[in-house]
Amino acid sequence: MHLPRFKYQSAASLEETVALLKEYPDATLMAGGTELLPRLKYRLYSPGLVISLKAMPVSPPSVTPGEDLALDPLMSLTAISRSGIIRERAPILSEAALGVGSREIRNMGTLGGNLCQETRCLYYNQGHRFQFVEPCYKRGGDICYFITGGKKCWAVFMADTAPPLISLGARIRIMGETPREIPVEELYTNKAEKPLAMGPGEVLSRILVPKAPHNRGAAFFKLSPRGGLEFATLSVAAVLETEDNGSTCSRARLTVGAVSSAPVRARAAESILTGEDLSEELFAHAADLAASEIQAVPHHGYSRPYLKECVRVWTDRALRSAAGSLKKGNP
Ligand SMILES: Cc1cc2nc3c(=O)[nH]c(=O)nc-3n(C[C@H](O)[C@H](O)[C@H](O)COP(=O)(O)OP(=O)(O)OC[C@H]3O[C@@H](n4cnc5c(N)ncnc54)[C@H](O)[C@@H]3O)c2cc1C
Ligand code: SF4
Repeated sequence: MHLPRFKYQSAASLEETVALLKEYPDATLMAGGTELLPRLKYRLYSPGLVISLKAMPVSPPSVTPGEDLALDPLMSLTAISRSGIIRERAPILSEAALGVGSREIRNMGTLGGNLCQETRCLYYNQGHRFQFVEPCYKRGGDICYFITGGKKCWAVFMADTAPPLISLGARIRIMGETPREIPVEELYTNKAEKPLAMGPGEVLSRILVPKAPHNRGAAFFKLSPRGGLEFATLSVAAVLETEDNGSTCSRARLTVGAVSSAPVRARAAESILTGEDLSEELFAHAADLAASEIQAVPHHGYSRPYLKECVRVWTDRALRSAAGSLKKGNP
């Protein structure tokens, strides 16, 4: 399948990128292109100009004066998964990066592109007989082919690196007319038609992962068909912190991916864990709560009851694994 016609320009810096976005309101950004180019080939989107970020220098991970780990969004997923400092300070991010697609996808695909990808739907990401029928909500129409009679789009956000970054309390810097810094969680609108809280003139410029306290344990699990080379059926990132006694939970963050139009925090489960002594019974209780509070959108052939049970089982496993890594002293 061929790409449509579009103008192409390479940007040498973030400043030039922002200036180009301002000059061309119908422009889009391309980092690795592994998510954007299939959408263009499927004619799901027709930008007037594609601004390539590929020629921009990529900064290696560094530690800020405030002890955050600063990551360049243009780092490839392979580089993220191999970086020693990321493996040491945010191992669940390395694991998530290593679980994305195939080696070729990880070599080309970037962290920023992963976080800024579109929501997905079995009826939308196709090559595409629906081109010839009435467009659905996601393509500007007023019908949904997935939920018959649906009054909005239900496409699911499936980026693997978002749940770990949210559970780690990471923030992002955005450059544009008004530069700003927001928690990664606030990048997502939970609106399938426009999943990112970023304006057309904005570009992601940094990802900041806060320093891990010594008493933190974390785990990430991605469930996917064939065990890999695929988008997630569901993913769970659990981060547990304890008091100095090593057993009382002082903070819990649980983020579930691929069940909604944004990554979802299991807040009731988090609060039942906080202040309690960690135990397998407590994890099972928290996992039950997570399964009840998260209203998973059925997607790609997975039914709601199946996904609900997956949330329960994988939250329980993630919590137990996070507690296990806490004992080993991993962040
Ligand atoms: C076969 C296949 C399998 C895949 N499997 C997975 C998977 O298992 N898990 C997963 O999460 N993804 C998967 N993907 C999707 C995609 O490859 C990855 O998400 C990848 O990380 C995207 O990065 P990229 O640099 O190629 O993004 P691009 O395609 O370049 O861009 C993606 C989107 O992000 C925007 N963007 C890119 N960089 C920035 C920036 N700095 N600031 C603002 N916006 C930006 C672009 O405008 C575009 O809208 C798969 C794709 C394919 C084709
Ligand atoms: S869920 Fe969204 S993308 Fe899928 S058919 Fe419905 S409107 Fe279209």
